[in-house]
Amino acid sequence: MLGKLVEFFKGLFGGKGGTQLGSGNVSTSVARSVTVTAGRDAQHVTVADIVNNITHAAVPPPAFEPRPDEAEILTRLADSRDKTLLLVRLDSVAGFAVLIDAKELAGPRDAEAGLRYVEAVGRLREHKLLVDHAGDGQVFHLSAEGREWARKLRGKCPECGRPTANVGDDPARPPVWECGNARCVRSRWHRDARCPTCGKRPSVVTDGGVNFTSFLCEDGHPFTTSSSKS
Ligand SMILES: [Zn+2]
Ligand SMILES: [Zn+2]
Repeated sequence: MLGKLVEFFKGLFGGKGGTQLGSGNVSTSVARSVTVTAGRDAQHVTVADIVNNITHAAVPPPAFEPRPDEAEILTRLADSRDKTLLLVRLDSVAGFAVLIDAKELAGPRDAEAGLRYVEAVGRLREHKLLVDHAGDGQVFHLSAEGREWARKLRGKCPECGRPTANVGDDPARPPVWECGNARCVRSRWHRDARCPTCGKRPSVVTDGGVNFTSFLCEDGHPFTTSSSKS
C-alpha cells in the first residue's frame, strides 16, 4: 500500500516542478502519515487525509489572524493618549500586567484575563505589530503594521465583529468603544456577568430572551442572568 501511495504522489506532484513541494519532502510526508495511520486503521486512510497532511507540512506559517484580546490591544493602543503599552512585572499569577494609559487591561482579580493579555502581547511582538524601541521588553509602541491592523479593526467588536459605538463622553479623552450586540459576551450588556459557580467570565452566549441571557463560563458552567439593560 505504501509503495502505491508514494507512486501516486510522485505522479501527482512530479510534473509541477517542485516549486513548493520538493519530492523529498513529499515522500517523507507520505511515509510519515502512512506509518502513523496504517497501524491503527488502514482502511480509513483516505487520499484527502494524506493530501491534508502534506499541505500542512508544506505551507508557510499562517498569516496573523487577530484573536479578540489582540484586536482589543491593537485598537486601544491606537486610540490611547500616550500610544504606549507598558508590560509591568508583577507579583501575580500572570507575572506581568499590561497597561495602556496607566490603566491595567485585566481587572486586578482576573488572573486568567491577565494571562491572556500577556500572551496577546507576546503574539503581537512575534508578528512585529508591537515594538519596543528601547529593547527592554517593557515599553511598547505600535509598529507601522500594527497601526495598519488597528485601523482595520477599529470600530468593530473584537469578539463578534459587529460595529461598535463610541460611548465616551469627553472629547478630550480617547474614545470608548462598546459592542451593543446582546448575543456577544463582550457587549456592554454582559460586561459584568460572572459565573456564580467559579466567578469567571462568560465565554459564550447559549440562549437569550427578553429578560434573560444564558451563558457558559470559561470553565463550562452554565448560568443565566436576568437582563440589566441600562
Ligand atoms: Zn461584540
Ligand atoms: Zn464557572
